Amino acid sequence: MQTIYESFIASAGANPDKALFEQPGKPDITYAGTRDLVQRLAAVLTAIGVQPGDRVAVQTDKSPEVVALYLATLQVGGVYLPLNTAYTGAEIDYFLGDAAPRLFVCTPATLDQHKPRETAGLRVESLGAAGDGSLLERAQTAEPLAVAVPRGMGDPASILYTSGTTGRSKGAVLTHGNLASNAAALIQAWRFSGEDRLIHALPIFHIHGLFVAVNMTLVAGATMIFLSKFDAEEIIALMGDATVLMGVPTFYTRLLKSDRLTPDAAAKMRLFVSGSAPLLAEDHAAFERATGHPILERYGMTETGMITTNPYDGARKPGAVGMPLPGIEIRITDRETGAPLPDGQIGAIEVRGPNVFDGYWQMPEKTAAEFRPDRFFITGDLGQIGDDGYLRIVGRDKDLVISGGYNVYPKEIEEAIDDIPGVLESAVIGLPHPDLGEGVTAVVVPQKGADLDEKAIIDAIRDKLARFKQPKRVLFVDELPRNVMGKVQKAELRKSYAKLYT
Ligand code: ATP
Ligand code: MG
Repeated sequence: MQTIYESFIASAGANPDKALFEQPGKPDITYAGTRDLVQRLAAVLTAIGVQPGDRVAVQTDKSPEVVALYLATLQVGGVYLPLNTAYTGAEIDYFLGDAAPRLFVCTPATLDQHKPRETAGLRVESLGAAGDGSLLERAQTAEPLAVAVPRGMGDPASILYTSGTTGRSKGAVLTHGNLASNAAALIQAWRFSGEDRLIHALPIFHIHGLFVAVNMTLVAGATMIFLSKFDAEEIIALMGDATVLMGVPTFYTRLLKSDRLTPDAAAKMRLFVSGSAPLLAEDHAAFERATGHPILERYGMTETGMITTNPYDGARKPGAVGMPLPGIEIRITDRETGAPLPDGQIGAIEVRGPNVFDGYWQMPEKTAAEFRPDRFFITGDLGQIGDDGYLRIVGRDKDLVISGGYNVYPKEIEEAIDDIPGVLESAVIGLPHPDLGEGVTAVVVPQKGADLDEKAIIDAIRDKLARFKQPKRVLFVDELPRNVMGKVQKAELRKSYAKLYT
């Protein structure tokens, strides 16, 4: 197996003049052009003093140059650490304090603000989406560095912070082997090839946009249509010139709102992928009706890369996340005892394989607590493997509600509520309750103009759900708290309504 950097160099060697990046209204950037910039940046990193194993923290706007910086970091044996562009002041303090990088790369606009962070051990430089910034200026005059620091599959390649949906983000240390094996498994599972033209509208500070989308492209020698943000109309227009779209569920909800989304518009596309959060079964059905394409849903997380996927050829089942990728094992265990459970039962999802990370950065106890002695990693998600062999996720362990001693899986109640006419979406949480331990509570977002009240919701599900699953209270809000990845932050909801029953 080759590292991602070696695969990129091989792809560039095979097809130097092929476009790696296409951007609307801008000239294409070829594989050879990218390689040249990568190797110039590698020279700059070396001059700055980035040593093998040093972290390079990056908080910049999305651009091809940032991808080049990622590859340059790998070339010099550094550890790439992308940060969400939404993080500010105190959050940056936390990440830089935690990761202790050698270099922090920010945007030109924030350089003045971050420059005072410089110490003997930390350099601050900038890189802009318009090809500007101190790092790129230096790269222009640098002599490209041809050699790469040799790296083994067990060496760290990246520290990626989790999305912080359930609490403070944790740094997951991913090795070269994690990245390379996952890209190879996905390429095989999704028949990805050099012929593919990927619409890339995801952020690149997260596993999905960077280590799924970018790594697959580099290894396969494919082309990315690289967009700075998601715009439904632009993406529909681009479908005539592309083959694959990788998105989060909200991409699909937004695409579905356009009447330009037709079978004709999507006729040239061969694959639509969704992941990072659950895709609503009704969106899956609506998208297939609108375009003729069943969305392929997959499941993964920062710590493990991608774990399971619906099949490319077989049935892509709404509400299911499919089977493990090649080389990866999963099992369902009792969430308290850890004993393996037979198919059909709901329990903790555990995973083992070359995709599973090394551990949490500087959190040995947390790392030890999340691994079984036989190296299975406890994902923190709950699910069930059906008779059909497909994995279905029922929610996060931390979101499980235990009411009167019974386990209540929020997803089941949310689905029942979402089916009620006038409901846009819902989140079911457990709140401290004097008698029950936790009281099942529904937080509902009504559709615009819908006439709904607490009683209407409870009446509508009364006959569908056992009494212990029925919400004790239904609260209405205009929108659910989401993080930048579009994930509902149930911890925030639990905090907001902590005193509801007490
Ligand atoms: P944190 O670990 O900091 O609380 P996070 O778990 O949201 O944040 P990520 O690693 O970005 O951080 O997300 C992984 C999680 O996203 C998975 O554990 C799972 O709960 C959810 N997820 C990913 N894909 C799917 C999917 N297809 N269906 C349902 N949930 C999914
Ligand atoms: Mg997580």
